Amino acid sequence: MTYSVKEIFYTLQGEGGQAGTPAVFCRFAGCNLWTGREQDRPNAICQFCDTDFVGTDGTLGGKFATADELAERILSQWPADDSRHRMVVLTGGEPLLQVDPALIAALHARGFRISVESNGTVAAPEGIDWLCISPKAGADWIQRSGQELKLVWPQPTFDLAAIEASTEFQHYFLQPMDNAQQGSNIAACIAQCMQRPGWRLSLQTHKLTGIR
Ligand code: SF4
Repeated sequence: MTYSVKEIFYTLQGEGGQAGTPAVFCRFAGCNLWTGREQDRPNAICQFCDTDFVGTDGTLGGKFATADELAERILSQWPADDSRHRMVVLTGGEPLLQVDPALIAALHARGFRISVESNGTVAAPEGIDWLCISPKAGADWIQRSGQELKLVWPQPTFDLAAIEASTEFQHYFLQPMDNAQQGSNIAACIAQCMQRPGWRLSLQTHKLTGIR
């Protein structure tokens, strides 16, 4: 298959259970919950997106004809003198519209641990090392197990107790929605975590620190 990639860059994971970990980010183009065009946002299933995932025109973006070609491009961004800590974050957009067994095999062959950040509407293939699901209210939530559930908060209709009872994740995070009410969203997340100690606070540290 041909992979459509918006951008590839090396940074630190900013959020969730692996925050602070060096990783190559590979952002796939396209999402099934929004076109990415501002004029479509009011009618999109997901309306709070903070990411540009449209097209293939970002840093090192493009169309990749094979999994090996894409995996080589990702590897080219890792420090040449390290082979022990390679990590890639496959994100989007919705990466699971494109991530397939061939790409998983090509990245593993190059020594990468594979993290995926998905909205949970697409079943994950085997072989992902760290699956982070960030469900959206109003969207079909199919993938209900993995390493990390990262719930952007607050969102209507989500009930934390019901989510805990009906999913199997190793870690549960609440992450304040980044909008005009961010202050009260942070307070709401802190209050929820203290009331439900199974949940932890996730902050978007890349925004706090100014890294990409
Ligand atoms: S599901 Fe994720 S990538 Fe898609 S529109 Fe929502 S926040 Fe953006």
